[in-house]
Amino acid sequence: MNPFVYLGVCLVFAILGISLLYKVQRLKELGDKVTALNFSLEEMDEQAKLIMRTDMELNKAQEELDKKISGLDTLQKLSREISTTLEEKQIFKKINNQYVEELGFEKSLAFLWKTLEREFHLYLCLGYSQDESLKIKAAINANKDYFLDLIKTGSTASSEFIPEGALSKNKINQLFLVRSFIICPVLAQEGDQGFIFVGTQNVETSITKGDQEFISILANQIGQTLDNARLFEKTWRSQQELEIKVEERTRQLTVALEEVKKISRRKSDFISSVSHEIRTPLTSIKGYAAILLANKLGTLPDEIRSRLEKINRHSDELVHMVNDLLDISRIESGKVEIRKEALSLRTIADKVADLFSEQLKTKNIDFSSNIPDDCQEILADRSQIERVFINLVGNALKFTPQNGKIDINANRANKIIQIDVKDTGFGIPQDAQESIFEEFFRVDNTINQEVKGTGLGLTLVKHIIEAHQGRIWVKSKVGEGSTFSFTLNTTK
Ligand code: ADP
Repeated sequence: MNPFVYLGVCLVFAILGISLLYKVQRLKELGDKVTALNFSLEEMDEQAKLIMRTDMELNKAQEELDKKISGLDTLQKLSREISTTLEEKQIFKKINNQYVEELGFEKSLAFLWKTLEREFHLYLCLGYSQDESLKIKAAINANKDYFLDLIKTGSTASSEFIPEGALSKNKINQLFLVRSFIICPVLAQEGDQGFIFVGTQNVETSITKGDQEFISILANQIGQTLDNARLFEKTWRSQQELEIKVEERTRQLTVALEEVKKISRRKSDFISSVSHEIRTPLTSIKGYAAILLANKLGTLPDEIRSRLEKINRHSDELVHMVNDLLDISRIESGKVEIRKEALSLRTIADKVADLFSEQLKTKNIDFSSNIPDDCQEILADRSQIERVFINLVGNALKFTPQNGKIDINANRANKIIQIDVKDTGFGIPQDAQESIFEEFFRVDNTINQEVKGTGLGLTLVKHIIEAHQGRIWVKSKVGEGSTFSFTLNTTK
């Protein structure tokens, strides 16, 4: 063969070989790329599956969340209704079909254990016929130990979680005629406890932790409301008992008061008639003494005259006492008409000072009255109020030693004027201060053995002040003096 041809053929083969080698190389590269691409596609597929799974889970979580929100909303409404109820039976009546359905169930029962009867009583029945509910009640009482144990341990039982005990999930399903259920104890501090049951026949329902929480919140709310209702019932009952007692006591007191009034009226009538009876012979005694003292039956020997003067003086005192007694009984029985008019307090004080001027001078007692302008006018019965002043200033004078001091002061609060008659006298012992306004009461001390009196003056004063709708009281310290205070109304 022509060497040129041979060389040419060799060259062609060499070129073809090189080209083939290059193509094989390219094909290998392409193959690698396809493998890498396949790998990426698988990864993407995996990721897509993951995204789908996450999306589904998110949807489920969203559904759960929505269920929880609506459940919470229902619970809130139900709690509000229940918590405002204060009667045991009414609490359970507030739980109706709608609420139970909103919580995802169509059947509900509530039982309370009655310790005395030793059985469970039905308080709520939703989604069952009467016949069914009676059968369930009988079955519950037949298995009472299981339910009592739930209450005792405070455990919740549900189709998802059955605490240890005799009843299986299937048995409970059969007992309550459901496929899923929750049973929560209703615990109260005092009184009957029990449990609430919710259930459904829906096969698709599966009880979640959230469902269990809701029913236990509801059971807690019922327990608390039962406590409140019982506390209210207890308080209400004791209030009723108290009211009955108060009524009974008031009735007894009214009867006693009537009796006291009757006795007091009789006493006043008695005093009044006795005083009248005494006054007549007293007037005669005084008349005869006056005739004798005027020497109308001849001149009297000095000794007889002095005795007669004593008779006359004692008769005066007796007349005075009888008059006071008559006045007290008249005021007590309301026979004295209080004629109120506008009076000047200063004029009354001046008049009384004038009346006692001689005795004040004799004992060298400093008398002053301090009546501000706004206390000027009082609304009172002139003659009665003058007697009050005469008695109080008279007493102050009687029980204040030489060189003492007597003041009349007045001050005002709204339409009430308070008048104080203050002295620097012997004072009144604390234990006697309460009795001072009682009839015939006189402090048992040496001063009273020297100073004459009847123990009627302050009683009369108190009656007069009270007939004017005022108040009278005393503040005193032995050896320092006394202040008698009383109130009267003003016109302005
Ligand atoms: P009487 O003055 O006739 O005894 P009262 O009813 O006026 O009766 O007073 C009762 C008693 O109250 C007096 O006996 C006296 O012991 C005491 N008493 C009243 N006023 C004063 C006073 N200003 N200071 C001290 N004791 C007084």
